Amino acid sequence: MTTFEIEPGRLFIGGRWHDAADGARGEVVDPSRGTVLTTVAEAGPADVDAAVRAARETFDAGQWSGLSGRERGRVLHRVAELIRENAEDLAELESLDVGKPITLCRAVDITNAANDYEHYAALAHSLDGATRDTPLNALAYTRREPLGVVAAITPYNFPLILAGTKLAPALAAGNTVVHKPAEETPLSALYMARLLQEAGVPDGVVNVVTGTGPVTGEALLRHPGVDKVAFTGSTTVGRHVAGVAGQALRPVTMELGGNAAHLVFEDADLEKAVGAVIKAFVFNTGQFCMAGPRLLVARKVYATLLGILAEAVPGVPVGDPRKPETVVGPMAGERHLRKVEEYVDLARQEGGRIVCGGERLDLDGGYYYKPTVIADLPNDSRAVQEEIFGPVLTVQPFDSEDEAVALANSTPYGLASGVQTGSLARAHRVADRLQAGIVWINDWAMLDPAVPFGGVKDSGFGREYGPEALASYTKVKSVVVSLD
Ligand code: NAD
Repeated sequence: MTTFEIEPGRLFIGGRWHDAADGARGEVVDPSRGTVLTTVAEAGPADVDAAVRAARETFDAGQWSGLSGRERGRVLHRVAELIRENAEDLAELESLDVGKPITLCRAVDITNAANDYEHYAALAHSLDGATRDTPLNALAYTRREPLGVVAAITPYNFPLILAGTKLAPALAAGNTVVHKPAEETPLSALYMARLLQEAGVPDGVVNVVTGTGPVTGEALLRHPGVDKVAFTGSTTVGRHVAGVAGQALRPVTMELGGNAAHLVFEDADLEKAVGAVIKAFVFNTGQFCMAGPRLLVARKVYATLLGILAEAVPGVPVGDPRKPETVVGPMAGERHLRKVEEYVDLARQEGGRIVCGGERLDLDGGYYYKPTVIADLPNDSRAVQEEIFGPVLTVQPFDSEDEAVALANSTPYGLASGVQTGSLARAHRVADRLQAGIVWINDWAMLDPAVPFGGVKDSGFGREYGPEALASYTKVKSVVVSLD
């Protein structure tokens, strides 16, 4: 049960809480019951303008951008500490808002969000340039400077972590930020606004505007005061966002959809592989851009693995996200549940055989769907090719390494991929050929702020995490000093 009150959300602009100028508000739903949890302000163009102006003025005044990296790092370290000190509140909030199992929130969301800030706090004072050897009679050196105002637009599925993957490096580099969280799951962004202020981030450096994509997101995206758009979300919306930013010649980072293949070779440790296979498609109720919903299995072990999955998957604990034993909670919203239902119906029409699941779970009025395994689908079926974004696994056999790689690379996406094999040589060989921003060998979802991830093809471009992300929030300036 919640131990704290969830206050109606307001906009956080220039270090103060505001209602929307036109008084608009949106509902936030508890997906485990289908009931309204609270409401939050919906920012219109005037509110977005106020937020961007606050971010711009603060950036220009140098209260944050003018600090040394070490000073900014000290504040970001404090943010990480405060996340850990408030871990239980944050975990409960994220669980209520997204329907995530509380155990997952504690172990993954809160831990990783704190790690994000800690990691970039440490990197903040490594931001330096280089001296360049040149035949000019000059001293030439480069500096890394912040970009200015960053618009961070984040999706509904990992609200706290994906805000951290943008805010932590953007702040470490000295930028100011206007954050627009997803309309369905905005609560942890508002909680974090308070923690960032408490940690000593100056007013106006981080501004949070809640509201819908077409109104709030669009106003932010099109605001001329924005210097970079850091977007995580669907490929469809990403295409639009990149187009608008392209017209305005603003740099963008595009973290988009995924549909990862998980390859199990006959030389894999099957018992261990099964754990990774299940984790890869049920983690976060399948609402994970780097989920592994396409299982490709060597024909020699295909029937065996399907048999193991048919027995094991129905035993995965699905239910109330507040219970510590729950592994799979509800979908985060009704529209996501409907989308999963539509895809499973489509898979049936496309010739798929439901091995287990294939239906809703009727519980407390929540948006639950049973983990589902589907076999016998042709590779060109939509249920294989498109991103379902729910706890659904399709399973296909392959006869050779070449065929496995071809099937893995056959969708428009390229975010993540995974290989289960006992052969070191095969692991490296196949990883080399997979079109994906990250490849996991003999496990799944091994993520850490030190290790970059991101997409190729329709999964986007740019990288989150690692020094790569920090660099993407900076611009290089060269200074050439005549020695004549
Ligand atoms: P979405 O694209 O519907 O929304 C993402 C964000 O964009 C939200 O904040 C939304 O309000 C905003 N938005 C919508 N229309 C907009 C517009 N016209 N202008 C500006 N902003 C707008 O995505 P979603 O349903 O929230 O999230 C799920 C998707 O995100 C999946 O496709 C998933 O794969 C992807 N995702 C990718 C990553 C990654 O790292 N690559 C991580 C998580 C989720």
